[in-house]
Amino acid sequence: MTKVIIIGAGVAGLAAGSFLQMNDYETEIFEMHDKAGGLCASWEREGYHIDGCIHWWDCTSLNHPIYPTLDELLDMKNLPRVIYEEFCSVEEDGKILRFFGNLDLFESELKNISPEDSKIIEEMIAEARKIASIDMHSDRKKEFFYKWKVSIGEYSKKLKSSLIKKLLITFPFSPDSSMFDFLLHAASLHNKEACYPLGGAQKLVDRLVQRYTLLGGTINYNSNVAEILTKNDSVKGIQLDNGKNYTADYIVSAADGYSTIRNMLKGQYVDENIRKLYYSNRHIPQKSQIYISLGINKIFKESFKPYVYITLQNPLIVEEEKINTVGITIHNFDPTSAPLGKTVLTILIPINYTESWINLRKKNKAEYERKKEEIALHMIEEIDAYFGDIKTKVEMVDVATPATYIRYTNNWNSGVDSMSWGTDGGNKPRKEITGLNNFFMCGQWVGDVGLSYGMQSGKDVAKLLCEQEDKNLQIITYKKKRNNEFSTIRT
Ligand SMILES: Cc1cc2nc3c(=O)[nH]c(=O)nc-3n(C[C@H](O)[C@H](O)[C@H](O)COP(=O)(O)OP(=O)(O)OC[C@H]3O[C@@H](n4cnc5c(N)ncnc54)[C@H](O)[C@@H]3O)c2cc1C
Repeated sequence: MTKVIIIGAGVAGLAAGSFLQMNDYETEIFEMHDKAGGLCASWEREGYHIDGCIHWWDCTSLNHPIYPTLDELLDMKNLPRVIYEEFCSVEEDGKILRFFGNLDLFESELKNISPEDSKIIEEMIAEARKIASIDMHSDRKKEFFYKWKVSIGEYSKKLKSSLIKKLLITFPFSPDSSMFDFLLHAASLHNKEACYPLGGAQKLVDRLVQRYTLLGGTINYNSNVAEILTKNDSVKGIQLDNGKNYTADYIVSAADGYSTIRNMLKGQYVDENIRKLYYSNRHIPQKSQIYISLGINKIFKESFKPYVYITLQNPLIVEEEKINTVGITIHNFDPTSAPLGKTVLTILIPINYTESWINLRKKNKAEYERKKEEIALHMIEEIDAYFGDIKTKVEMVDVATPATYIRYTNNWNSGVDSMSWGTDGGNKPRKEITGLNNFFMCGQWVGDVGLSYGMQSGKDVAKLLCEQEDKNLQIITYKKKRNNEFSTIRT
């Protein structure tokens, strides 16, 4: 049997493994952490379940081109999901602006808030409607991508309403994001393409792991790949950091791109594309985040929708950055997140990446912990001032920093999504490397960012590998047939 080693048990690696198992390859995943999921992470703290990832999971509507891939991996029909009618709200001086999933409702809401911006609002909504109606795999996506390449910061200058400006940069957007990203987000909410799976990140990862292992795949945890072994420009296997070697006919790296290229492959294969991505300053991931989770012994009113953006009374200073607004996720839409009558709140604060967090954790753990506590206390004060009756009800506090993300995924500069690849003219890095045979990459480091695109990336790599062997990719459907044999569909 042809042997494939996959590095990394994030969503992309697990998907690649499943599709390769469906095609009679013997696969083994090597994962440095003691659990699967990578950035699709969740953890337990004092009786609360923290979802450290999913805010909205896109491509999940029946007619989306990626839906079949999700269904093949996750059995979508039997995966309960919450669909947002209202995605988030922002406030200013007592005025609240809601980001509705429906574009008609959203347009009226925007016009109500700022009639003087009607023309620009109509332009944005009309474009979001057009984007909502196109096949995202067609070349028309590029047309809109170029047309709306302008940054949110630049486009916002046309707007009079500061509240609308605020809404345009709610998570995960920043003034540097393109307007295309925002319009695409509004369009996918309108198409009900985005949702939250009940049980969150844990549920998705459990399903992916179960799917992969039932198909016969093996995951080796606590297995940090140090080197990809090559001979005559073909891969031969891997070496773990404990010195153990494993041989394979093919290798798929679904792990951090920087360490794959510069460490595991020792910088031996550097074509023009790789040079641009990993040896120039152009694509260095700049953004990381602080992720604060609070367990609160109370329930929140229905009127507080999943994401509430608040303006801080006292800005939070992280390194030299001044944070004035934060988005709070109220996880009351997922009963699995907290015991009855209690609620998990999470606050994701995008910050510029610096090595200071990693250095501090290494050199002065007590000071690192103190800094985390200081941030959490600041947030508790602010949330208390906004919602009232919080301070005395906080039962659990958890703070993840860039150091946490590096520790758990080894991602370059703790990159939590290498979105920037994708904005390079819409051209993604290739999944193969010039000059190295039988090697593929998938996941966020080849520009397939996000959960659904990550899973699709794994399938795409399986297809490429099959093609190299003159085979068509076979799909084994999720459900077993009545005779207890898997059904196979030729794609
Ligand atoms: C806070 C947060 C919120 C997010 N929200 C959303 C959202 O709402 N919707 C959405 O679609 N996406 C979201 N994302 C993005 C999404 O989680 C990622 O795009 C996706 O999970 C990336 O998957 P991946 O498999 O490409 O990479 P990763 O998840 O990074 O997986 C790589 C794996 O490789 C392993 N690895 C690395 N180096 C080695 C080595 N040397 N040896 C062995 N193993 C190794 C790592 O431990 C990891 O498990 C969010 C991410 C974060 C952090």
